[in-house]
Formats: sequence, structure tokens, C-alpha cells
Amino acid sequence: MILIDEKYERFRAGVRDFVKEVVEPRADDIDKEGTFPEDVVKACAEQGYLGLVVPEELGGAGTDTLEYTIVVEEVSRACGSTGIILAAHNSLGTWPILNFGAEEQVDEYVPPLARGERMGAFGLTEPNAGSDAAGTQTTAVLDGDHYVINGSKCFITNASDDRDTGYVITAVTDKEQGVRGISSFIILGGTSGFRVAKHENKMGLRGSETAVLEFADVKLPKENLLGKEGDGFKQFMVTLDGGRISIGAMALGIAQGALDHALERAKTRVQFGKPIGTKQAIQFKIADMATQVDAARAMVYNAALLKDAGKPFSTESAAAKLYASEVSYFCTYEAIQIFGGYGYMKDYPLERFYRDTRLTEIGEGTSEIQRIVIARNLLGKLS
Ligand SMILES: Cc1cc2nc3c(=O)[nH]c(=O)nc-3n(C[C@H](O)[C@H](O)[C@H](O)COP(=O)(O)OP(=O)(O)OC[C@H]3O[C@@H](n4cnc5c(N)ncnc54)[C@H](O)[C@@H]3O)c2cc1C
Repeated sequence: MILIDEKYERFRAGVRDFVKEVVEPRADDIDKEGTFPEDVVKACAEQGYLGLVVPEELGGAGTDTLEYTIVVEEVSRACGSTGIILAAHNSLGTWPILNFGAEEQVDEYVPPLARGERMGAFGLTEPNAGSDAAGTQTTAVLDGDHYVINGSKCFITNASDDRDTGYVITAVTDKEQGVRGISSFIILGGTSGFRVAKHENKMGLRGSETAVLEFADVKLPKENLLGKEGDGFKQFMVTLDGGRISIGAMALGIAQGALDHALERAKTRVQFGKPIGTKQAIQFKIADMATQVDAARAMVYNAALLKDAGKPFSTESAAAKLYASEVSYFCTYEAIQIFGGYGYMKDYPLERFYRDTRLTEIGEGTSEIQRIVIARNLLGKLS
């Protein structure tokens, strides 16, 4: 158990009640149907979960980062799909506008996102620019009072032509400037020349939409530039620092969910005349899972607290995401082992947790990239 201020435990209790009543009963069907859970997301919006960390005067819930972390953790404990929908919407689709947007952009774009009337998405990854996001190839050419955007993005969470969606995307405005030539833009779904070209069919997180975006001579007003030309690379590095806390929270929630089920099973499954939890082999698995979940929680919460305190947190958020995602994979693997053959069946949620958590070692920077970020922060630039 991690000792945090009592107000956060009270907050968690409220989130947990909501998850038990609304999210958990739908989680299996969301996975089986593989469709975006409109009903659950609407209920989340009513709770303010689509406006976490957005000030109340802009239509948000005005929570701090630790409260946001707790929401993503508790939701993911039951349903990873809903967890990633909230994480991508809040950290990637909304936060960059809130943080880097001019006052008019914040006033125009943030309230509908915070109220959940519009979903938020973030388009950074491209077919030829994944881990190496500096290799962005989508271009934005200034032509009078607008930019002309051409290119494509892939694997974009929450992307959809079916619902009102706002995107923050990156594009090259000056090829000669390298990473200083990448800029960010706000673009709404339905803009002429911009379309969702393909919906991916994924192994897990099946209720979350993941799609390819295409831009063909899209005319975007100059006012849609986020910050200044050339700020895009810096902006998305900072955005991902924060986003990694929420992916860490998602991994943590799934790990805790797997541990909860494993504990229950260890107490109730009788073999050789006794509950399997009487066997040291099972006890050691439970002990290792619980120890690692607590350590992951301490790291994820610490990164959130550092962010809220205005202190540097890039190393800590990368380490928290790296560790929590690997713990989550371990816990879902071991929970299936504790369930034996039943864990392999779709009648129980363990195989879903196992599939869902695999993304946490890939999205918002793979585990290899987290290690690079941590080492680079510690070592500096060596020649
Ligand atoms: C379900 C899902 C949702 C996603 N949502 C979004 C989203 O909303 N927005 C968005 O912009 N992107 C999103 N992504 C993309 C995600 O961030 C990328 O998949 C990820 O950054 C890895 O890029 P890649 O897939 O191109 O892999 P690659 O970059 O091709 O990497 C392949 C392998 O090589 C390794 N590798 C690459 N470079 C190095 C290096 N320098 N040193 C050591 N190893 C290296 C990687 O770690 C990996 O193991 C999503 C992806 C998925 C699967």
C-alpha cells in the first residue's frame, strides 16, 4: 500500500464506485464487440473524466495530476480500452492545447473537449516516423493566410469520422531546420481533404479506436498553428513526458486488476484438497506481483506529484512507464498461470488483461525508447 493524502483515497473510492457500476459490467462486451464504448465514455464525461486537469472555468474537473492518474488507474483496472481512451483524450488531445495554445485557442477548443462533446486525439506517429518522431514527413506549407497540409499519420488513438474529434498533429514547416522545423497544428475532423483512411484491427484494447489519418492538400487557417512555427518537437516531447504518467497508470491499473483476480482465485480454487493459495509456489507468485505493483504505484504517483509540484519529471515519468508496463505484463502473465486453463479462456478477464497491457510497452514510446530517455537524461550528451 502506498501512503497518500486521505483526500486522494476518498477520491479513489468515488472513482471505484463509478467503475464498479458503469465500466466493469461493460468491459467484456467492449472487448468482444470491438467498438468504441459510446455509453461508457458519455458516463465518464458526466463524471468530468474527459476534462481532468482542465480548470473548472474551462468546463473541466479541475483535478490535479495525481487525481487524473487515479482515474486512469481505476478505470483500467476494469477496462483497458476505456483507460486508453481517457488517457489519449486528456493527455494527448487536450493538454497540448491547454498548455501551448494561445488564449483564443484555449477558449475555443478546450471547453468542448473538457465537457466530452468532442473527443481529443494526437497525431504524431507516421508510417516512416515511429520511435524516430523527428523523422516526421507530413508537411505544412504556408500559402497566404493558411497552411497546406499533406501526408499521413498512423496508429492514432480516438481517431474517428463518426464523432466530433479534434486533433493535435505535427508537420514539417521548414525542412532545412531539422527538428526545429517541426510545428504543431489543431485540426478538426471533417476538414476538407482530411480523412480517417483505415481503422486498425488490434490484438487488445479493442474498444479503443486506432486509425490512419490522411491529409491531401488540406487548407488549414494560420490561426490553427499551436504556439510558434518550429515549436512542435519541443511541445510533443513535453506532452509525452506527461502522457507517460497516464500510460504508467493504465499499466498499473491492469496489473492491479490481474492481482485482484489472482488473489481471489488463490483463495477459492481447491486442488489436492486445499486452496491453491496454500502452496508456496502460488504464494511466491502473489508476493512478487504485490511487491512489484506497489513499487510501480510509488513510481507512477511520484512522477505525478513531481509534475504537480512543477519539478522536472521527464526521467521519473519514463521510468514509471517503463517499470509499470513491464510489471503489468508480468502480473497478467502470472495471473493466467494461477488460473491455469481457466485463465486461457475468454470466460475470465485475464486473457483480455494480458492482450490489453501489451500496448503499454509500445505506445508513447517503446520500452527501448524509455531506456534511451532515462539514460540520456542521466548521462547528458556524450561524444
Ligand atoms: C494501440 C496503439 C495506439 C497508439 N496511439 C498513438 C497515438 O494516439 N498517437 C500517436 O502519435 N501514436 C500512437 N501510437 C504509436 C506508438 O507511439 C508507436 O507505435 C511507437 O512509438 C513505436 O513506433 P513504431 O510502431 O513505428 O515502432 P518502430 O519505431 O519501428 O520500432 C520497432 C522496434 O525497434 C525499436 N527501436 C526503434 N528505435 C530504436 C533505437 N534507437 N534504439 C533501440 N531500439 C529502437 C523499438 O523499441 C521497437 O522495439 C500508438 C500505437 C499503438 C500500437
